[in-house]
Amino acid sequence: MKLKVKNKKVLVRVDFNVPLNSNFEVTDDTRIRAALPTIKKLMADGAKVVLCSHLGRPQKKLNDDGTINRKKFTLKHIVPTLSKKLETEVQFAEDTVGPKSTAAIKKLKAGEVLLIENTRFEKGETKGDEKMAHDLAQRVDLYVNDAFGTAHRAHASTAIVANFFLPKEKSFGYLIEREIENANKVLNNPKRPLTAIVGGAKVSDKILLLERLIDFANNIIIGGGMAYTFVKAQGGNVGNSLVEDDRMELALKLLAKAKEKGVEICLPVDSIIADQFSNEAKILTMETNNIPKDWMGLDIGPGAQAKFISVIESSATILWNGPMGVFEMSNFANGTQVIAQAVAKATAEKGAFSLIGGGDSVAAINQLELGSKVSFVSTGGGAMLEYLEGKALPGIKAITG
Ligand code: AMP
Repeated sequence: MKLKVKNKKVLVRVDFNVPLNSNFEVTDDTRIRAALPTIKKLMADGAKVVLCSHLGRPQKKLNDDGTINRKKFTLKHIVPTLSKKLETEVQFAEDTVGPKSTAAIKKLKAGEVLLIENTRFEKGETKGDEKMAHDLAQRVDLYVNDAFGTAHRAHASTAIVANFFLPKEKSFGYLIEREIENANKVLNNPKRPLTAIVGGAKVSDKILLLERLIDFANNIIIGGGMAYTFVKAQGGNVGNSLVEDDRMELALKLLAKAKEKGVEICLPVDSIIADQFSNEAKILTMETNNIPKDWMGLDIGPGAQAKFISVIESSATILWNGPMGVFEMSNFANGTQVIAQAVAKATAEKGAFSLIGGGDSVAAINQLELGSKVSFVSTGGGAMLEYLEGKALPGIKAITG
């Protein structure tokens, strides 16, 4: 952050979209913690800090009479946690672009922090409304975007607002800087071999990522539900496993392209199969291309684990996006856990660079308390996926031009 912030009013877009319990207490403060370095630096440098964020989807979950459910979605719920973490009393304004926040901003002193109300209380936020963006911008001197989790959205407070500032008046915060820096370690001149581990439910969600990876990865490990489309496309029997029939042709094309480019694609040779989609199901281990009718693959098997681990342990750069099985159910979590441990081991013992870049693999790594054992855990699932796919993120483009 190269901005001169002393005595300046700085609007900071953060991502405080955190989970709350039924008493509206924060149950996971990862995103709040991720925003602290930027806020603390601005406070220490004498800025008047104006924080804004969205929380949930208030426009999609209106009260019966069509009004906003303020009680549920107010950002005021975040104030106690944030005040504690910043060791200061965070002020709160009960509107986003209205008179209350405008007055509170005017009164702010250097080093003080004000949180304004949920940006999505305004209809214009997700529409990228110019007027709302202008209203947000006109009350402050500078703009900092540190909300990596919403950097792939062209919303009023994440991207459009930046148009009202000169290049010298806007910047990323430390979180976005770190996310980009770490993603670029995979994308630009990575240490080789580079292994990408791609899992999760559907091929269709990861097509762009897979296509791009084939251009620069050495190995691509494919696990999770999406593996079965690849296996069936090659003539395997996958029973009742998750398959996207309309993506089988694409799967064959990807395999052919990988072969042409010398990229090794690793599919699970065996699977943990179940007779129903349930943790109580009967379970067997079976070759992935030989799954009986009415059974479905819900996790990678021991043979697949061994192969994947050996590839991971010989890699210098590792990118992981998506679980290896239905890890939410304890009987099908083992494959994901073992892969998480292998990634942590390759990082700690072999000095590999490892980036965990996607929602559910992040949840898996955190569940296993291995977050500190890998090189970087991204805070932005969708945003990281789009960045890795090579898309220009609106929240980043708005700053860099
Ligand atoms: P994604 O959001 O695309 O990364 O997908 C994550 C979801 O994929 C998780 O909810 C997993 O339960 C699910 N998943 C992983 N493996 C399988 C599988 N073999 N069959 C069905 N769903 C799966």
